[in-house]
Amino acid sequence: MDTVMNLTAYGENASAALDAAEETLRTLDAKLDRHDETSTVSALNRDGTVEDAELAQLTDIAQTIGALSGGAFDPTVAPVMDAWDFTGDAPRVPSDEELSALLAHVGLEKLSVDGNTIALSDGAQLDLGGIAKGYAGDAVRTVLAEFGVTSAVIDLGGDVGLLGAKPDGSDWRVAVKDPAAPSKFLGVLTAADTFVVTSGIYERGFEENGVHHHIIDPKTGKPAESGLVSVTVVCGDGAWADALSTACFVLGEAGSLALRDTLAAEKNLRIELILVTDDGHVRYTAGLAERFEPSEEGTYVYEAIIA
Ligand code: AMP
Ligand code: MG
Repeated sequence: MDTVMNLTAYGENASAALDAAEETLRTLDAKLDRHDETSTVSALNRDGTVEDAELAQLTDIAQTIGALSGGAFDPTVAPVMDAWDFTGDAPRVPSDEELSALLAHVGLEKLSVDGNTIALSDGAQLDLGGIAKGYAGDAVRTVLAEFGVTSAVIDLGGDVGLLGAKPDGSDWRVAVKDPAAPSKFLGVLTAADTFVVTSGIYERGFEENGVHHHIIDPKTGKPAESGLVSVTVVCGDGAWADALSTACFVLGEAGSLALRDTLAAEKNLRIELILVTDDGHVRYTAGLAERFEPSEEGTYVYEAIIA
C-alpha cells in the first residue's frame, strides 16, 4: 500500500498474532493494488468484471460512502489519478480538456456490486487508495483479536487503529500531524478501541506552478480546494474512517459537519473530526473537547465546534 506499517501487540500470543497480521496485510495488498498486474483489482480493471467476496464487500462500503458524501468520495477516480501521475516518474498538470474527457469515465453509477460480483461500465477503473488502508486496519484488528490480543496499535502509515487500551488499562495517546510540518504535531488525542485516520495535503503530491496534492474533487478532476488542508476522523471502523477522511477533505468544513450529521441519523454512526483550515484554524468537534490536547508550540488557533 505504498507506505510503512508498524504493528505493536501485547500479551501472550502477540508474536504469532503479528505474524498472522503481516500475512493478512500482504494478501490484501496483493489483492487490492491496482498497480500490481496480478491483483484482483487489476483483473477487474482489465476485464470489467470480477468475482471476489471480500472485494465485493469493500467495494460496497466504498459505494455507500460515495453516495452518502454526494460523490465527494468516488473510487472510480483512477483515470484522473493516472493523468496527474502523483506517485509516478512524471507528475504533471493535465489540461482542462484532458480532464473533462477523463471525467466521462468517472462516476459511482459506473460501478456495481451484485452478490460477490463487481462490474465496471463506460471504461471506469477502480482505485481503492482512499479506503484500502483503513480496511486493512479492520482486517488486522480482527486477526489480532482472534489470537486473543486485547491491546495493540496498528499504525498503517500514520493512520492508526487502536485495539483496546494500553496494557496498563489507560488510553493510548496518538499524535496528530501538523499538515504544514509533518515532523511536528497539532496535538495529542487520547483514545482507545478506535481508528484515527488523517487525509492531508502533505502526503503525496508535487510542485508545478503551485503544489498539487493527491485528493481529487471528482467534480473537477483537480486536487480538492475546500479550504481544508487536513482532516482527521475518529471512528470505530477503519474502512469508514479512511474513506470518510478523504470525503471530508473534498467536502470542506460545512459539508463535513453535514455528513457527520447524516451518518449519525441514517447509519447510527458517530464520528469525531479535527479539521485544519487553510487560514490556520484547527477546529474539532465537541466530542473531542476532553480528548484532544492542542500542541503548545503550535501556530494555530484552536476552536471546539459546538454544533
Ligand atoms: P487518502 O490518503 O486516504 O485521503 O486517500 C487518497 C487516495 O485515494 C489517492 O491517492 C487516490 O488513490 C484516492 N482518491 C483520490 N481522490 C479520491 C476521491 N475523491 N475519492 C476516493 N478516492 C480518492
Ligand atoms: Mg482515506
